[in-house]
Amino acid sequence: MGRTVPSLRGHLGWLVTVSILVLSTALGGVPRPASAEAIVVTDVRVGQHGDVTRFVLDFTHKVEFTLFTLAEPDRLIIDLPEVGWRLPPRPLPRRTGVLKTLRYGLFKPGLSRVVVDLTRPVAARRAYLMDPEGGRGYRLILDLVPATRAAFLAVGKVAPAPGTAGVQASPTGTPRRDVVATARRPLFPTPPRKPEMGGVKRVIAIDPGHGGVDPGTVGRSGIYEKDITLSMAREIRDRLQATGRYKVVLTRDRDVFVRLRDRIAVSREAGAELFISIHADAIKNSKIRGLSVYTLSEKASDKEAAALAEKENKADLIAGIDLTKETPEVTNILIDLAQRESMNQSARFAARLVKELARETKLLRNTHRFAGFVVLKAPDVPSVLMELGFLSNRQDEAALKRKSYRAKLIAAMARAADTYFSRIEEAVRP
Ligand SMILES: [Zn+2]
Repeated sequence: MGRTVPSLRGHLGWLVTVSILVLSTALGGVPRPASAEAIVVTDVRVGQHGDVTRFVLDFTHKVEFTLFTLAEPDRLIIDLPEVGWRLPPRPLPRRTGVLKTLRYGLFKPGLSRVVVDLTRPVAARRAYLMDPEGGRGYRLILDLVPATRAAFLAVGKVAPAPGTAGVQASPTGTPRRDVVATARRPLFPTPPRKPEMGGVKRVIAIDPGHGGVDPGTVGRSGIYEKDITLSMAREIRDRLQATGRYKVVLTRDRDVFVRLRDRIAVSREAGAELFISIHADAIKNSKIRGLSVYTLSEKASDKEAAALAEKENKADLIAGIDLTKETPEVTNILIDLAQRESMNQSARFAARLVKELARETKLLRNTHRFAGFVVLKAPDVPSVLMELGFLSNRQDEAALKRKSYRAKLIAAMARAADTYFSRIEEAVRP
C-alpha cells in the first residue's frame, strides 16, 4: 500500500471526514446500476499504519459508494453499483489491523457489495475516492480506527427513511450522523431467503444445443439431439419460471441454427447470471451411459472430455459458417483473470448440480468434468454444459424421451439453482 496523500480537491463535490461510524457517499448516495462503461475493481489492498487500518480499492472508473456498519458480528459494508471484479491472482487480504476477513460479490442486480468482517468495533476516519494519478485509476480509500462499542452502536438507533439504502452525504457534503444499521434493524434490507430472493428475479439462460442445420448427434432410434435439447430447455424454462423466482431466456426457442457466439450474446443481453447449455452425447460404445456436467477449463480433464468439446465446438463448422473471420474473435476470448471468478462460480454450481442429479439418475463416472467448450466462454457469466446422457445407449435414449424422466432432472436443476443463488446471497449478506 503506497503512501497516499488524500486528495482534498472536491472532485466529487464532497469529502467525508468521518469520526462517526457510518458514513456516506457522493452525489446522492444510492448506488446506481453501472452504465455502459463497466466499472471494474482491479485490486483490493489492506494495510496497517499504527492504529489505522487502511483499505484501498482500485477502480477503472469513477464510482459511488455507500458505507454502513452492522453489529453482531461487527461488520462494515461497502455498497457499490454493479461492478466487475478483476483482482490479481492472490488471496484476498485478511487478518490485518481490524480486518478479520473480506468478502465481495454481486448482492443483487445493480448492486455489488464488499463485506468487511471486523475484529472489533470501529469508526471510519476517512472514506473518499481519489482521482486517478501516477498511472493508477480511481482509488477508494477507507481508514478505519478502533472505536468503543458504545460509539459503534450509538449510531444504529435511527431507522432510515423508507427506500433509502445506506447513508447519504448531505448536499453540503457534511455527513449525516443519524443513520446506520444494527444487526437487528439492518438499514439495508436483507433479502428474504425465498421465494423472492430480494424481490428481483434471477435470470438464467438455457441453451438448447444444436438446431436447424446442425442436428447434433443422432440416437439409436433416429432421434436428434437438437430436438431433445429443445424439449428439455422449454420444460426447464416453464418449471423454473413457475417458481416465480426466475426469468429464463432460451438461446433458441425453435429448430433454428444459432452460432455459438450468438448463444453467448443472447445470454449476456438478457443479463443472465447463469448459463446452462443442454446436450446429449453419442459414442461408439453403446454400453456407456450416464449424465455429466462440464465447466470450462483450459485443459480438458481427460481425453474424452477434450474430444467431446471438439465435437460440440464444431457446430458452427457443421452449419457451414465461414470461421476464418470468427476464429480470432473466439480465440480472443481468453481464459484469463476476468474469467476466474465466473469459473469458480461455474464450478460451484456444477458441484451442486451433480449432487442434486445424483439423487435422480445415473451419472457418468467423474461426473463433473472440464473442457474447452466455446459456448462456456462468456467471461462474466457462470456457465455449465450438461450432457444429459448418451443417445447411443438404449436406456439413456429411452429415458430422455420420457417426460417424467426429464421432469426429475429438471427438479434437480431447480434445487441446484435455488441453493446456488441463496449461497451467493448469503455470501454477501451482511
Ligand atoms: Zn451436443
